[in-house]
Amino acid sequence: MIDLAEAIGLVEAAARPLGPRRVALASADGLRLAAAIAADGDSPPWDRAMMDGFAVRDADIVPDGVTELDVVVDLAAGDVTALPIPPGCCARIMTGAPLPAGADAVVPVECALDGTAGTHAGGRVRLRDGRYRAGQHVARRGTAFRRGQVVLPEGTVLSPAAIGLAVEAGATHVVVAAPPRVAILATGSELVPPDSIPAHGQTRNSNGPMIAAAVRAAGGEAVALGSVGDRPEAIRAAVAMGLAADILVLSGGVSAGDLDLVPEAFAACGVAEVFHKVRMKPGKPVWFGRRARGDGQTLVFGLPGNPASSLVCFELFVRPALAILRGLAPRHWHLPRVRGVLSAAARGAGDRPVYAPCRVHASGTGYAVEPLAWSGSSDLVGLAVAEGLMVLPAGSGTLPAGTEVDVVIRTGDGG
Ligand code: AMP
Ligand code: MG
Repeated sequence: MIDLAEAIGLVEAAARPLGPRRVALASADGLRLAAAIAADGDSPPWDRAMMDGFAVRDADIVPDGVTELDVVVDLAAGDVTALPIPPGCCARIMTGAPLPAGADAVVPVECALDGTAGTHAGGRVRLRDGRYRAGQHVARRGTAFRRGQVVLPEGTVLSPAAIGLAVEAGATHVVVAAPPRVAILATGSELVPPDSIPAHGQTRNSNGPMIAAAVRAAGGEAVALGSVGDRPEAIRAAVAMGLAADILVLSGGVSAGDLDLVPEAFAACGVAEVFHKVRMKPGKPVWFGRRARGDGQTLVFGLPGNPASSLVCFELFVRPALAILRGLAPRHWHLPRVRGVLSAAARGAGDRPVYAPCRVHASGTGYAVEPLAWSGSSDLVGLAVAEGLMVLPAGSGTLPAGTEVDVVIRTGDGG
């Protein structure tokens, strides 16, 4: 058993920032580009009609009068023609179609006179456009961007518009600073899925969704692996699968009971133990190790199964590991701490520091710390409404109201 500060130091020493990752553009929204995106072509890729109407030659237009033209081809979006438009002729064209050679401008269909608006190839159209300008209603090739041009520089956060632009520029995959992947696996033969009614002796897997939520709140991507029973082969198989992630978090099976098969499974899967058991309450049985993977590694946490222990251990050990993998500065590795004064007595625990749920109120120039009812490591009721974890030092017995204590403030993602 080691001290908490030493254990946290070992986690910090083991964790390394992840490099950028190549991910599918379709799942990259909200992420920051670690490499610029350059266009694979011009945009528009050709001179594009921007109105429904008739593609005309500027030279044919009679200013302030009626222009009569032969329609030689019909062009819907997607249609192309290799034939140039001869003088005195035009194409019937729809928005989005490439302007045919020879044509310079589009006269909107609304400008067709004498019922000629519906004229197709082979017919004759009569046009009067009082506001005609040379080159009108055409988006010229390359006016948005050119082939090879950087359209999204490194550092851009992929907004919906940026995703659209990246697709237009030909990107299918992008290099981004992606959130660490955290696989979450609950162990215990008593566990049933969160959406089922437990029979006598069964327990809903509440740690799975709870840890997944904590992972996301700390800026990670949660990969839920569900739960496995207390069978060595089953745990080993699930651990092997979870080792593909950047961090693997198990819950249950790390204390001293007969069925504490998790450390065994870790060993069988080549995970090297860094520590097992930390002087703290709740969370004493917590396990931490690492396994090499490619040119990186997987950090592996075995959190105790009791839900309050699991969550406290997540906040103290997994959260800093995630922050370091994300590349955050040290001031973002841990939840903030403040000093406060107990507004009621609180009971410590012999040889171990206690992390217990509390509320925190501003009081004068400091903070008042109000202990919440808490029956121990299986009790989430106080934690669910807690604003912090008060730290009752080892060997402190009962601390009277008025005692100064540290409080770990539970907040958002700390980064
Ligand atoms: P363990 O750490 O496996 O000895 O489990 C300690 C306690 O936590 C037992 O009462 C378990 O039923 C409970 N527990 C273990 N895993 C979970 C879980 N995923 N969700 C809720 N309770 C759990
Ligand atoms: Mg168990």
